[in-house]
Amino acid sequence: MSVPTEKDVSPDKSYLDKKYFINPYVYNCPFCNRRNLSYELDEVIDFDWNNDKKCYVHFVICSSCDKSSMHLSYDCIAKHHGAYSAIDYWSFNQDIDIDEHIFYSVPTSFFVLDKRIPKIIRELISEAEGSLKMNFLTGASACMRKAIYELFVREKVKGEHYGDKIKALKGKGNSPSELH
Ligand SMILES: [Zn+2]
Repeated sequence: MSVPTEKDVSPDKSYLDKKYFINPYVYNCPFCNRRNLSYELDEVIDFDWNNDKKCYVHFVICSSCDKSSMHLSYDCIAKHHGAYSAIDYWSFNQDIDIDEHIFYSVPTSFFVLDKRIPKIIRELISEAEGSLKMNFLTGASACMRKAIYELFVREKVKGEHYGDKIKALKGKGNSPSELH
């Protein structure tokens, strides 16, 4: 006779296995393929999806494997707790179903695919899906970088780093913010 495990006696919480985020501190890592791991909300940036809608991009780091995943939401669901020694502190809001507010994640469907499908196949599907959807964004961001680089050359902007050049460009009057 086998000894009852915690799984046998605790209420069925298998629905949690299908989730990405359990709460602001615990999630199921798609890279480790391990459940109930702690994570860190590393960074949140926002941009204008269109004239009346913002989109928030969340970067989450697994505390076990250190890999970073990306999650898009139209809702402001995270708080900034300030910056200390150049590190920003963020966390998802309490008392919300984080998954409900996220419309797209990379990696994507790892936990949705049936566990009977071999792990390697699930990984490949999930990666293919991710890169297919991300091709557009990668292409778009490459084009933007190229455009900004062209602007640097044209305006003869000096500066060692990308950030310095952007600042120098702002001083020139033809800043990108005036061009859109
Ligand atoms: Zn992990």
